[in-house]
Parts: sequence; C-alpha cells; structure tokens
Amino acid sequence: MTKKTRTATKVSHTARYEELRHILEDRRREIVSEVNSKMKDVRVEGAGGIMQPVEMGDISDATIQDDIDFALIQMKAETLQRIDEALRRLEDGTYGNCFECADEISQQRLRALPFAVRCKDCEEAREAAAQRERFYSQRRPGGSLFLDLSS
Ligand SMILES: [Zn+2]
Repeated sequence: MTKKTRTATKVSHTARYEELRHILEDRRREIVSEVNSKMKDVRVEGAGGIMQPVEMGDISDATIQDDIDFALIQMKAETLQRIDEALRRLEDGTYGNCFECADEISQQRLRALPFAVRCKDCEEAREAAAQRERFYSQRRPGGSLFLDLSS
C-alpha cells in the first residue's frame, strides 16, 4: 500500500461520494463495453483483409468506416481518461464542486454532464456573459467600413 493515509478528512465515504462514484463508474462501464464491441468488429473485419494489397479505385467504404471506427474508439478512450481523472479528483475530494463558487454541483447535473466543472448558475452566468460579449463585439462600429471610406 503506497496510499497515503491522510488525517481523517471524512470527505471520503459520504453518501455523495458513493453516488458520484457510482455515476462515474456506470459511465465508465458503458464506454468500456462500447469500445470492446467496436474493437471486436474491427478485428473481425480486419482479419485477413488489412494486409492484403488493395486494388486502386477500391479504397472502399471499408477504409473510411475503419477510420470512423478508429476515431470513435479514440474519442471513447479520451472520455475514459477523463473519467479516471474525475475518479482521482473524487478521491481527493475536489470532484463535483463548482470551479467558480465552490458550491456542490447537483448530482442531477453531474449525471447528465459528468465532467461539468461549474454549477448550473455559474454556467448560465458564464454563457450569458459570453453571449453579451459576442453581441457587443458584433455591433461595435468599426474597423473595416471606416477604413474603406478613407482609402
Ligand atoms: Zn457555481
């Protein structure tokens, strides 16, 4: 055991901890089984086919399909990494709290968005601010028209 025994913070095995871990592990299991079934498909289709010389003009849909599958698997693998990170943060007691206001992010929200880093209020405030910014930057009188007239 290399795990450091920290002085009982008691953050660990609360009901919320269990619930969040459950959400993450469910998601993890789901993705692992998806990846496994994809991998099986690729292996079966690829068997014997992939090393054979391919006739020109027959770079077929299969190749494209393989690329798509590969991209999908890669995406899933990245998601898995994020889940592992989230699980680590959960162990540290830093998962599931809002980045902005440090409030707990609701379990409902985390269930839908396991990697949410802000609570609903902060996220909405942030989106509203971003929208306002876009709006003003579009309306700002400016640049090109003025330059065109003076040239
Ligand atoms: Zn917040």
